[in-house]
Amino acid sequence: MTPVRVVVPEPGLAAGIPGVETEPEHPEDVVLLRAAADGAGVPAGAAVARALGAATVLLPPGRVEARWVAAVAGTWAADTTPDLGRAVQSLVSMLAGGDPGALIRRPDPDGTPAASLPLPVLARLAIRAWRPCPHCAGGGVVRGTCGGCGRPMEAAA
Ligand SMILES: [Zn+2]
Repeated sequence: MTPVRVVVPEPGLAAGIPGVETEPEHPEDVVLLRAAADGAGVPAGAAVARALGAATVLLPPGRVEARWVAAVAGTWAADTTPDLGRAVQSLVSMLAGGDPGALIRRPDPDGTPAASLPLPVLARLAIRAWRPCPHCAGGGVVRGTCGGCGRPMEAAA
């Protein structure tokens, strides 16, 4: 079985974060992308990730939050968290839909990231909260934005 890898193709964004790769290679990869800073919308690396069939996650626009998400994802991958793509999509969805300070304990990690909950607990809650997105193959939490495409999640009927 191919191990699930966390991939951040944006140059320099994930520098120094353990367990994060820079080049998508397998359909099992979870690819974390950030929208282009110039507002072009389509993040670098999205086409490659889609061609591979890898799960994609839209990172928060801010560098500090994006690095925190990448560090949490890298830790979850090292812990062989199941449904890693969904867990990370829910995580960014929760960040977008609420107060990031409620989740992020230490914002600029260079080692193990700190969260307001132990990371294995946060992973289980994130997976449980995940709902499919009405617009794309990704998903997120109700009342957040989709962790895959960034559009608002419709409230559950
Ligand atoms: Zn979506």
